[in-house]
Amino acid sequence: MTVLKDFLEPQLQALRDQGLYNTIDTVEGPNGAKIKINGAELINLSSNNYLGFANDDRLKKKCIEATEQYGVGAGAVRTINGTMTVHDELEKRLAEFKHTEAAIAFQSGFNCNMGAISAVMTKKDAIISDELNHASIIDGCRLSGAKILRAKHQDMIDLRRVAKEATESGQYEKIMYITDGVFSMDGDVAKIPEIVAIAEEFGLITYVDDAHGSGVMGKGAGTVKHFSMSDKIDFQMGTLSKAIGVVGGYVAGSQQLIDWLKVRARPFLFSTSLTPGAAAACIEAIDIMEHDPERMEKLWENGTYLKAGLVKLGFDIGYSETPITPCIIGDENLTQQFSRRLLEEGVYAKSIVFPTVPKGTGRVRNMPTAAHTKEMLDEVLASYEKVGKELKVI
Ligand SMILES: *Cc1c(COP(=O)(O)O)cnc(C)c1O
Repeated sequence: MTVLKDFLEPQLQALRDQGLYNTIDTVEGPNGAKIKINGAELINLSSNNYLGFANDDRLKKKCIEATEQYGVGAGAVRTINGTMTVHDELEKRLAEFKHTEAAIAFQSGFNCNMGAISAVMTKKDAIISDELNHASIIDGCRLSGAKILRAKHQDMIDLRRVAKEATESGQYEKIMYITDGVFSMDGDVAKIPEIVAIAEEFGLITYVDDAHGSGVMGKGAGTVKHFSMSDKIDFQMGTLSKAIGVVGGYVAGSQQLIDWLKVRARPFLFSTSLTPGAAAACIEAIDIMEHDPERMEKLWENGTYLKAGLVKLGFDIGYSETPITPCIIGDENLTQQFSRRLLEEGVYAKSIVFPTVPKGTGRVRNMPTAAHTKEMLDEVLASYEKVGKELKVI
């Protein structure tokens, strides 16, 4: 008992002293375009619920129906008897939607990366990883035991150099390149055609984590589909927890790859499957995206509107190519103060500072969704103008 206490107490205190201890805001109700926190109604610009599916009546209905039909839990891991008709259907629909031979669903995007990377890569291999890749990619790479080679963010000259050196060293059995499809801090998009060319030149395995691209890019089917390169990327990983609005992760790829993951990806073998209700809600989300592009169009329209408004006010919004809209303030303290003031004005937009982003590039990150109205975005822009002038950012 005292050993643990002696470890935790000073560390917690140090975090609190440095103002780095993160307190968690509890949302009182659904996570929509507006949320309630501590009794206050706020315009929500901090969710990944891009299409508003998290609280969509059609998805809720399918979730309830599947729960009635199959129960609240799957009762086992996928490989024992936790694979229900609804899981098979989800995987079939995902593969069709992504234009791949097959797909495998996991309980989260995080454990999908942990399981999928380490099922294929070993300590005899190397993984070239974009320096800004998501934590779950980093952990998946580490777990595999492969040598991790960093490549500069979105720098194709550097990627080519690292790939060339790794290949010529003759040290590795296989080499993989892994990248986010859409980077969540800046909203920039992976250069898939250039990546494919380099991968073909050096015989790299390619892995795109499209957590923020699924449901957003390529008419919902993701970044790889956006570039029409579905047959050129080995692993198209995505989440069911962001734009899809539910929970889970998946890999879409060749039948061979999926066959292998189903016998080797450890979270698939040793962790209970997605709940049937979640799987059914995800199928409904795919249905809607396939038949009705209206939500996705609205998302992009809202992103464009917010960006144009912020630029007009004189803010720096970086180089986002997606609806993700960072508003770059710079100084860490000023960024946090900016976000706090927005909150007082009724706008929930989180500050993101070092070490999540480089020093001096603190930003308030805005995640508009299809569920926001023009009126809400106008209110947001009015708050930005007020706080921006008050804090002399504009
Ligand atoms: C959010 C995210 C994940 C994890 O997905 P979850 O389904 O939330 O576990 C993985 N990769 C990237 C790039 C992400 O942004």
